[in-house]
Amino acid sequence: MTKPQILWLRRDLRLADQPALAAALAAGPVVPVYVLDDAAAKGHAYGGASRWWLHHSLDSLARDLGKHHVRLILRRGDAVEELCKLADEIGADTVHAMRHYEPWWRKAQGELAKRLTLELYDGNYLLPPGAVTTGSGAPYKIYTPFAKATLEQMPPPEPQPAPAHFTLPDKWPASDALDDWGLLPTRPDWAGGMRDFWQVGEAAGHTRLDDFAARAARYDEDRNLPSIDGSSFLSPHLHFGELSPAQVWHGVGGPQGQGRHTFLKELIWRDYAQNVICQFPRYPLESYRDEFAAMEWRDPDKDGQAAADLAAWQQGRTGYPIVDAGMRQLWQTGWMHNRVRMIAASFLIKHLLIDWRHGERWFWDTLVDADYAQNGTNWQWVAGTGVDSNMFVRVMAPLSQSEKFDAAGYIRSYVPELTGLGEPQIHDPDGHGCRPKNYPEPLVAHREGRERALAAYRAMKG
Ligand SMILES: Cc1cc2nc3c(=O)[nH]c(=O)nc-3n(C[C@H](O)[C@H](O)[C@H](O)COP(=O)(O)OP(=O)(O)OC[C@H]3O[C@@H](n4cnc5c(N)ncnc54)[C@H](O)[C@@H]3O)c2cc1C
Repeated sequence: MTKPQILWLRRDLRLADQPALAAALAAGPVVPVYVLDDAAAKGHAYGGASRWWLHHSLDSLARDLGKHHVRLILRRGDAVEELCKLADEIGADTVHAMRHYEPWWRKAQGELAKRLTLELYDGNYLLPPGAVTTGSGAPYKIYTPFAKATLEQMPPPEPQPAPAHFTLPDKWPASDALDDWGLLPTRPDWAGGMRDFWQVGEAAGHTRLDDFAARAARYDEDRNLPSIDGSSFLSPHLHFGELSPAQVWHGVGGPQGQGRHTFLKELIWRDYAQNVICQFPRYPLESYRDEFAAMEWRDPDKDGQAAADLAAWQQGRTGYPIVDAGMRQLWQTGWMHNRVRMIAASFLIKHLLIDWRHGERWFWDTLVDADYAQNGTNWQWVAGTGVDSNMFVRVMAPLSQSEKFDAAGYIRSYVPELTGLGEPQIHDPDGHGCRPKNYPEPLVAHREGRERALAAYRAMKG
């Protein structure tokens, strides 16, 4: 009898185009396991919204495996220890897993490889980080040449279908019960909006992909308009690996036409973010540009007004309708439109002069697509503190952005206090003298916030 093969699942919760699963199956009966290891990631253990998604994603995967009489084994604790224990219990000596690049997973992969045979596979990115290098063999730091070099190596391989047959082990090891993990909120149950907005799991990811493929040609024009569904909504499916990027690439039909081309370049941002994390593992924790250590941020831990401003931003009560709509969309659905993410992030960092890491933390807890690499690189991009980023002195103007990107419908969806306002008043009710009594006045005037940010920047530069 061939030895059972452990399939260690992490952010790769799918059956199709899953090279680790395919290889494990080719080697023997497969025992798939997910280990909930909160300690390894320290401050980046999954936040509330991600835990909600994870619960449903594991539930969906367990059902899909169940159709083949395969059990998904759940264990909780130190991943390396749990995998070694499991190997002992079932007489396995080989673990198959997709390769992951978060620093805690790289450490765990290194430790596990010393104790068991660990076979790692690529396929959660268009190309494995390190596959795209400059002429001198160095990793890219800047997105544009990285994207160009990636495109030259495209398309990715054709995605593989889910296995049709599984070989089963003689007996199944014990598993935790998913419900006992307490991943879902109970008191209070704040997930109602997320339940309404999302279907979780591999099949749901494919439905989203098919839906988007039909409108991908319009992506270039539509993606910046928060009032319409112009983007793909694939980010949580990609984050949890319910879809592979190769499936997405081929699913939209490759880079034909401007809409699809622009979309696939956004998908390359995902690879780029991972490439940055591989070079700078602490990127989501530390400004890349050292000079920002001298920046005099308003510190919510020491300054009561800064703390109140941070709370108002989190709750969507800044008095800037587009920022508030975005922050409330995030709270209700666990997702926020990309352009609004940029506006809301810029508002926190520049208008409120609060360190980007406070925003990174909030997004980490509230996004269903919270991703160590993508969140960190995007926050540093907006802040102007990153390796490739916007300049700090480029301060986004939330009021004119709201008009330019036609956000009235979006604001009406998420800020009920303003539904009665027409255009252009809805973008700037205070400026037009028609702010409803139950809607807050702006935390800071645009010009004043901008000047304060620029003065702080000049002082930092000395
Ligand atoms: C401050 C800030 C924080 C962010 N945090 C995250 C995060 O934690 N997780 C996350 O997945 N995205 C993050 N993004 C990037 C982007 O906003 C989301 O990927 C996008 O809004 C997801 O919606 P979509 O799937 O409809 O995207 P689409 O526009 O349809 O793009 C397709 C896919 O490309 C990738 N992508 C798109 N834009 C970016 C980008 N700027 N950087 C990296 N990958 C990108 C995503 O995987 C996305 O699903 C952040 C952006 C900002 C400005």
